[in-house]
Amino acid sequence: MQSETHTQAGAARAGVVYLVGAGPGDPGLMTARALELIASADAIFYDRLIPPGALDGARPDADLVYVGKTPGDVPQVGYPYGPGKRGTSVGQGETNGRLVEAARAGRSVVRLKGGDPFVFGRGGEEGEALREAGIEFEVVPGVTAGVAASAYAGIPVTHRDDASAVAFVTGHEDPEKPETALDWDALAGFPGTLVFYMGVKRLADNAKALIDAGRDPDQPAAAVERGTMEGQRTVVATLATLAEAVEREGIGAPALIVVGDVVGRREALAWLERRPLHGRRVVVTRARAQASGLAATLRGLGAEVVELPAIRIEPRIGSEEVRRAAGRIGEYALICLTSPNGVRLLFEALAEAGLDARAFGGATVAAIGPGTARALEEHGITADVVPEKFVAEALVEALQRVELAGSRALVARAAEARDVLPDALNERGAEVDVVALYETVRETPSEDAVEAAQAADYVTFTSSSTVRNLTEALGDRFPGEARVVSIGPITSETAGEAGLEVAVEAERHDIDGLVAALLADAAR
Ligand code: SAH
Repeated sequence: MQSETHTQAGAARAGVVYLVGAGPGDPGLMTARALELIASADAIFYDRLIPPGALDGARPDADLVYVGKTPGDVPQVGYPYGPGKRGTSVGQGETNGRLVEAARAGRSVVRLKGGDPFVFGRGGEEGEALREAGIEFEVVPGVTAGVAASAYAGIPVTHRDDASAVAFVTGHEDPEKPETALDWDALAGFPGTLVFYMGVKRLADNAKALIDAGRDPDQPAAAVERGTMEGQRTVVATLATLAEAVEREGIGAPALIVVGDVVGRREALAWLERRPLHGRRVVVTRARAQASGLAATLRGLGAEVVELPAIRIEPRIGSEEVRRAAGRIGEYALICLTSPNGVRLLFEALAEAGLDARAFGGATVAAIGPGTARALEEHGITADVVPEKFVAEALVEALQRVELAGSRALVARAAEARDVLPDALNERGAEVDVVALYETVRETPSEDAVEAAQAADYVTFTSSSTVRNLTEALGDRFPGEARVVSIGPITSETAGEAGLEVAVEAERHDIDGLVAALLADAAR
């Protein structure tokens, strides 16, 4: 058992500066402690190379300040197409001063850096400046790129047969330093793996210096670009030929250079490139609030995901109609829900009426599919009816055995849904209330996302409204080469009407079914 103190050290304290490592780029490699501090800090001073979404958990009222260093540099928060203040650069002295100032003002301060703060992160200098100013600080280590990018490239930095030691080396020294601090003789003779940070620009010179000092020119060497991030690339050559290969492949920063026999292990250990959707760019068109599950699943399978939300959910639970339905929820013999959003919003409406799941009483509850059923489950309600196919017609079919004549039924759904279900219930003698819990409105996709979508291999559609809105929003910038993946026949039909050719249609009309269909297509 882990004790509380081991898993949680508590919120960021006032007047304290936390030097926090954000890891190498994959948001999943941020530490629990880093996330906890980001979520509680008053102010966050962040660098260029922090993972996409790293600041998403920050308090809405926290100050987020970019203090990247490279002159003329572009912050890459949310890389490849996130926000960021462009073209600014802040000197180290100024950063130190601002940390001190914020802490003195009694604020809790997170200084967020890529990788580990004490590995080529100038965290040492910041700590010294803080100590000198009498400011209390703590250090939160991060997963450093030298270890992480190598691991994602299938290169173990140590290995029982190949390397008993590993050295982290800077490939680009402080240009203001009068003489080199690197001892090339020592590095050439180092009995283990050499990992160069900031080593792309001077790769040719550094390789030559190593070879001149006696390192084997035929030793395997690799460059890992954008390690652990989407689009990671690895180039393998020898110490003598790596610079040429890097030039040819157009490898750019951030990249890591690994020199040593362990690079040869990549042949057996590469795993990233073996994932089923590796190298495939997939567009997700769901509303942002719901996209994350699908996007995460696809990323986990190796896909490069472009989120191009075509719609946004506008709740309507304040409406008279919804309030009335929520207030008399106990009177319905049948309650039909047609989406997880509907479930979420119905319960919000109930809560506003001072009610909860108990108000459902003895009603028969029908869910259009397993996602909706799962959402109900989260509120303690097991759906009585879930059809085998997740379309309104199938739900009507599944409700055949429920006696409806003379009873009240509620259909809680989106504003713009089809009337198949309420019509069928009416026909069978039920008194049907239809309430619109939300409407889906067009979202204008960002220019960067549209640009990234142009090279997509797949565009996924999970509803007719995403098809209509995205095709209208993109016009002739719809990625024509991409294969269109549809969640089911209704969505496919709408896609056809919009002039799209559906390449793949899910057999199971839910997110898992859509992913399965995409995987099968990609494996062709
Ligand atoms: N403190 C950071 C290193 C900062 S120095 C850490 O511990 O990882 C910046 C250099 O780190 C880059 O020039 C590059 O060589 C390396 N680097 C950082 N992130 C990287 C990544 N995702 N992939 C490859 N190299 C990376």
